[in-house]
Amino acid sequence: EAYEVWARSDEYHNSFLIEPDAVLEAVAKSAKEKGIAYEFSVSPAHGKFLNLLLLSLGAKRVLEVGSLAGYSAIWMARALPDDGEVVSLELDPFLVKAIEENVENAGLSSKVKVIAGPALSSMQTMQPETPFDFIFIDADKANNTNYFIEAKRLMVDNVGQSGGPGEPHVTHPYIEGVRELLRYIKDDIEVEATTIHTVGEKGFDGFLYAYRK
Ligand code: SAM
Repeated sequence: EAYEVWARSDEYHNSFLIEPDAVLEAVAKSAKEKGIAYEFSVSPAHGKFLNLLLLSLGAKRVLEVGSLAGYSAIWMARALPDDGEVVSLELDPFLVKAIEENVENAGLSSKVKVIAGPALSSMQTMQPETPFDFIFIDADKANNTNYFIEAKRLMVDNVGQSGGPGEPHVTHPYIEGVRELLRYIKDDIEVEATTIHTVGEKGFDGFLYAYRK
């Protein structure tokens, strides 16, 4: 399959750029043992990209929408100063427990706070006096536009969706969610945005990066 080329390419690049990481390997192992759909975590290259982006921005407060096993939260928390924080929103109570365990094992409990429950209502009830420097939206794509409206400065993962959004015959709530967000951003004069398709070892994936002017 074509994506195997990209899997080998990721592996090759990672062998130079990403060091073996016992903490993240342990996260992967325990997720697999618990039957968590770990393949929906960002790839190592994407995790490191998020980390470097936060370092470049000097980000201190990060909001994550959709935590899964805490893989991306750990990459992001590592980029923050001692008084920085990742607030991560997760619907599934089983995952909330797993994330807390993984974050503890990574020695990052003081920097990652998980809020259980539907992300949209968690976002809607957040106080405006806690501004976030960066928001990573990576949960149910059907809610992308709602999350975007709440967030405004954001980065949306999986906007590639295997090219689906650009293929008119392909319909799925996830793909419709991406299309709806693109239509919304087209008319939003407060942001500039661009999509980067990444493909890589998963054979799909991408980021939509939006900057609030
Ligand atoms: N960001 C994670 C990473 O890269 O390690 C992967 C997140 S995974 C793609 C999506 C997550 O969003 C799942 O853990 C799922 O349970 C969660 N989710 C789905 N719908 C949600 C909702 N309405 N509110 C909060 N979390 C939700």
